[in-house]
Amino acid sequence: MAAPLALVQHHGGVVRGSQLAPFGCTRKDLSVAVRRGELIRLRPGVFAAPRCPDAVQAAALHGGALTCAGALRLHGVWVLHDDEVPHVWLGEASRTHAHHGCRCTEHYRAGTMKLGSAPLEHALVHAYACHGDEFFFAAFESAWSKRLIGSAARQRIRGFLPAGARWLVDFARSDADSGLESIVRLRLHILGISVETQVTIAGVGRVDFVVEKRLILEIDGRANHAGAERRHHDLARDAAASRLGFETLRFDYALIIHQWDTVAAAVLTAIGRARA
Ligand SMILES: [Zn+2]
Ligand SMILES: [Zn+2]
Repeated sequence: MAAPLALVQHHGGVVRGSQLAPFGCTRKDLSVAVRRGELIRLRPGVFAAPRCPDAVQAAALHGGALTCAGALRLHGVWVLHDDEVPHVWLGEASRTHAHHGCRCTEHYRAGTMKLGSAPLEHALVHAYACHGDEFFFAAFESAWSKRLIGSAARQRIRGFLPAGARWLVDFARSDADSGLESIVRLRLHILGISVETQVTIAGVGRVDFVVEKRLILEIDGRANHAGAERRHHDLARDAAASRLGFETLRFDYALIIHQWDTVAAAVLTAIGRARA
């Protein structure tokens, strides 16, 4: 038999003891591992590896799997914002458990729930129900761009969305560079503005979006546009683009998330100029 800790880790960091019986791991083996500090007993019959994330442990204490933003983050997917409390998927008929400090948000949704972190497909569908179009769309494009969901998974996710939301999957692309880019593209689409994405312009380089062949939109992510060198690089690109007849607008996280009206007005006015 593998060591109990290795088995627990293999199962995603948290398990019911009964899941390990087929691997020859007895209740006694688990008790010994707990006594040695190799495993944590969360509640009777439920065990976690010491390095299992707190939110996953909280969800297991509650009786379910961590889902929504917390699970998406653990899958390596970009999220628009974190959940303030663990969102717990309880499957269809699970019973819940009182636990110390519980502030969990419960999700009773169909599917076979296993303790741990909800599978990515489920977490995306739950996040749509919890957080709506933009949150889902940005996470979905992030998962796709990181090659975490293949075409079959994307179609299953589409099928689980309400009919009125399925266009989000159809509109999604595999080449989004950042979650902010996804959100900007979605919002512009809703305003009736279509953009070309990841366009390479000779003499300028690859830009995030081009609108109407004349307007460049650059989306600066939260951390990666700091520093004088970076700023010089951006200014040089803008100068090169201007020489070719392009106007460049740059937007960062704060503008996009907190001052969208300003962004929308700037883009619409620039489109008007481009058409004039
Ligand atoms: Zn709880
Ligand atoms: Zn949720």
